[in-house]
Amino acid sequence: MKNNRTWANLLPYLLMLPILILLTSMAMSGNSKTLTYGQFIQLLNRKDTTIEKVSLTLSNTVIDVKGTYTDKTGDKIFVVTVPNTEESNNNLVSLLESKVKDGNITFVDAYKTNPLIEALVQIIPLIIVTAVGIYFISRMSGSQNNKAFEFSKSRARLEGNIKVRFTDVAGCDEEKEEMAELISYLKNPEKYAKMGARIPKGILMVGPPGTGKTLLAKAVAGEADVPFYSISGADFVEMFVGVGASRVRDMFKKAKSTAPCMVFIDEIDAVGRQRGAGLGGGNDEREQTLNMLLVEMDGIDDNKGIVIIAATNRPDVLDPALLRPGRFDRQITVSLPDKNGRKAILEVHARNKHFAENVDLAALAARTPGFSGADLENVLNEAAILAVRGNRDKITMEDLDEAIDRTMGGPAKKSRKYTDKEKTLVATHEAGHAVIGLFLEGANIVQKVTIIPRGVAGGYNLMTPKEDSMFLSTKKELLAQITGLLGGRVAEELVLGEISTGASNDLEKVTKIAKDMVNRYGMSEAIGPVQYDSDSGNVFLGRDYTSNKSYSDTVAYEIDQEVRKIVNGCYEEAKAIISEHRKDLDNIVRALIDQETLTKEDLDNIVKYGKVKPETVEENIR
Ligand code: ADP
Ligand code: MG
Ligand code: ZN
Repeated sequence: MKNNRTWANLLPYLLMLPILILLTSMAMSGNSKTLTYGQFIQLLNRKDTTIEKVSLTLSNTVIDVKGTYTDKTGDKIFVVTVPNTEESNNNLVSLLESKVKDGNITFVDAYKTNPLIEALVQIIPLIIVTAVGIYFISRMSGSQNNKAFEFSKSRARLEGNIKVRFTDVAGCDEEKEEMAELISYLKNPEKYAKMGARIPKGILMVGPPGTGKTLLAKAVAGEADVPFYSISGADFVEMFVGVGASRVRDMFKKAKSTAPCMVFIDEIDAVGRQRGAGLGGGNDEREQTLNMLLVEMDGIDDNKGIVIIAATNRPDVLDPALLRPGRFDRQITVSLPDKNGRKAILEVHARNKHFAENVDLAALAARTPGFSGADLENVLNEAAILAVRGNRDKITMEDLDEAIDRTMGGPAKKSRKYTDKEKTLVATHEAGHAVIGLFLEGANIVQKVTIIPRGVAGGYNLMTPKEDSMFLSTKKELLAQITGLLGGRVAEELVLGEISTGASNDLEKVTKIAKDMVNRYGMSEAIGPVQYDSDSGNVFLGRDYTSNKSYSDTVAYEIDQEVRKIVNGCYEEAKAIISEHRKDLDNIVRALIDQETLTKEDLDNIVKYGKVKPETVEENIR
């Protein structure tokens, strides 16, 4: 890159070179004296001068005469052009022969030019044009780095001396264990070669965004203390055809020269998509790149100390050829962290922050199911920013609370004013969700409910599952989830006798869960354990758009019936629960309107004592 930079700086000077040459040649011819024909004849007839030498350049119409003569004042160069007629020609030659010393006359063919000059004349315009072209391309491709000549080079960034260690990756214990072997291999490839063991060349890390795939790969390189090449799949794909393939080649060449080392291909789905799929099909740039990747991977000999780790969050679209033995044959799934994992991640990122006494990272971990490592880091960072903004020297639990809410729903819009009617409506809606959460077994627990608008949501309700059930849900839990989501709408209907648009987001989720129950999980009575919905769609179109409909219209009708049955059943249940606990609902609504935000403890108090503050209740009793 640096080299290119200096080249670009030199270009203007290079452009000036031909002009300079032209100028000097003009200046050189300037110190000769141009004579008219008359003066020339005079000169020839003068007695006191001798012509030292002369050269005649004959062309069709004129003769260029160039020569030196000596008179009293010394040597002079003269130039004259005479017409080339036969008469003047003979005349001139005989005149010159008598005049010029020792017959010092040379004849030059006008059409025979200096071959060097001829070559230069042809080459100079070419040089100028290319130079101008290069100059503009390099300017176009951005001022930060001139990629004009580098586009076929791989973009792999070489990072030696990686600072990330396993201790920086929290949770992920199984994944780390799996990687430990790689580290030992990278440290000492010969040991494995001697044993005849073949370590997988390629490892595919699969997992949702932000779960620490990149981090883990770096940590492996850091622990093994080997060079780390990282490149993103998107870097292979460029507007120039053939670039991707040559980049792949270049990257592997580099890697081979520094083995043992690690190559990390992030977002490999950008190049590794199934070949031959998609609209317009055919042999496109991405396929070329993928083919080259496959060829290069096969070209790495076993036990040469090169390990390739790729990461993706869409393993379903990858080309099967990538996954066959000898290529990315080992898959490591990096999943979202569970409660303990979240606590560990929080602790890692809390290392450089100061917290107030009341901060409890375990409680924070319990409140953030579904958060990825990146989300959690973001929460802590947001909280730190909030603390700075509030001029506090320590991060408080309130900062963390607000940071979680921000991460989930955007900043609170405290300035947005509700009308009283709207406030009642939102409070009733949110209280409906809360009541179901409190009284329906299996429903999500309400951790926090607020009527301060956030993002696009009017109010907001932070509900978490009782246990960390990330992997499996029972039918009962799914039904309870639907019931909880419907709680808002039901409360509006029962309490206010009027329904609002506020439930649209809830209904969207409800419909999705109910549909999945029928189509995907086989949880309906009428249809039974059949899966009608499959993901194997076209990889280039949106998944919903292409999910294959492999059933008849009769089945479609039945599915609709079942979905509706599930949702209606839950609706009735929500109605029953809310009617039964109407008193609690009213209390929650009142408290929400009064203080806008209620925590889980507040809700428990309302159920127990009818009020948020138990002290005041006790006072009343006394
Ligand atoms: P991915 O590549 O899976 O999308 P990254 O590895 O880029 O995710 O993670 C983004 C950030 O999230 C990391 O820089 C790190 O700060 C944080 N993070 C994610 N997972 C963890 C973890 N297990 N331990 C510590 N930090 C994590
Ligand atoms: Mg990543
Ligand atoms: Zn709602």
